[in-house]
Amino acid sequence: MRKIIHIDMDAFYASVEQNDDPDLRGKPVAVGGHKEGGVVAAASYEARKFGVKSALSSRIAARLCPQLIFVKPRFDRYKEISSEIRAIFHEYTDLIEPLSLDEAYLDITHPKIGLKSATLIAIDIKKKIKDKTGLIASAGISFNKFLAKIASDIEKPNGLYVVLPENAAVFIEKLPIKKFHGIGRVTAEKMKHAGIFTGKDLKAKTLDDLCLRYGKQGNYYYHVARGIDHRPILPTRKRKSISAENTFSHHLMTLADILSHLKPITEEVFRRYQLQSAQGRTISLKIKYGNFKQITRSKSQKEVILNLSEIQVLIRSLLNEDLLHEAGIRLLGIGISNLQFKKVVDPQMSIEF
Ligand SMILES: [Mg+2]
Repeated sequence: MRKIIHIDMDAFYASVEQNDDPDLRGKPVAVGGHKEGGVVAAASYEARKFGVKSALSSRIAARLCPQLIFVKPRFDRYKEISSEIRAIFHEYTDLIEPLSLDEAYLDITHPKIGLKSATLIAIDIKKKIKDKTGLIASAGISFNKFLAKIASDIEKPNGLYVVLPENAAVFIEKLPIKKFHGIGRVTAEKMKHAGIFTGKDLKAKTLDDLCLRYGKQGNYYYHVARGIDHRPILPTRKRKSISAENTFSHHLMTLADILSHLKPITEEVFRRYQLQSAQGRTISLKIKYGNFKQITRSKSQKEVILNLSEIQVLIRSLLNEDLLHEAGIRLLGIGISNLQFKKVVDPQMSIEF
């Protein structure tokens, strides 16, 4: 039996904008489009009350909600936060399948840390996301992707919902067909005409009948109606670096200032490094200035990094007066790259083979 968590950020783009700009908080916000045209990419919960939602034409959105504030999307910022969230996932597992910037499946059957309960891990992840980014996530927990994905939507926003194996059959039977992930609006409409309104109705159909009506998908429908979904978590790519960074409310002006603020970042990156099944040889130092200019300096050693003091030595060798700027430093980050991945033996595999 697998343990799968589906994490889905609540109104992601809109929440990032509200989080970064206090003036937008508590107000109806649409990311993307403008009063005269375009399309809404994301809507804040305040805007959703008026019927504003993603993919809606901005002109209609502005009519539905005259006080709607249109904000330009900042995808670089969303990506930046998305990778911070991903770094949190990696503390628990490397089996992560991102579906978009704000959604991912995690297989935590064998978590990296001691916590065994999937629910406790999901609570932990939600809290860390809130602490690190200020944003709210919903989590769905179950024994396959199909159920975890549906579960994350049940108590949105700030949801946490578990579908246990013993409750799965009843949960699916009661589920309206439009809530089934993988059944689009058109198919749901077709199913209604065929008398299929809930999971129970779907389950009553034979495999032959479903394949005849819905082709290849019929097989998927037949199985998910029974809570069967063996699709594995597909990690898209291996990570290229492990990093940690911090933004400061007051700008740093001196080397001594940099040094003292680098200490906790160094410790954090080393903590994350120890949780990874990878070892690296290169340290990079990222600096963002008050004028938003950014530089990166890096240094490698011959052997892989094994302890905190090696990171400190490499970082110190990169620090000099040239790094200072009259605009001050607003962000410092440390990354470990040139990663080699250790072979991980799956305990499940070693039993079976
Ligand atoms: Mg989302």
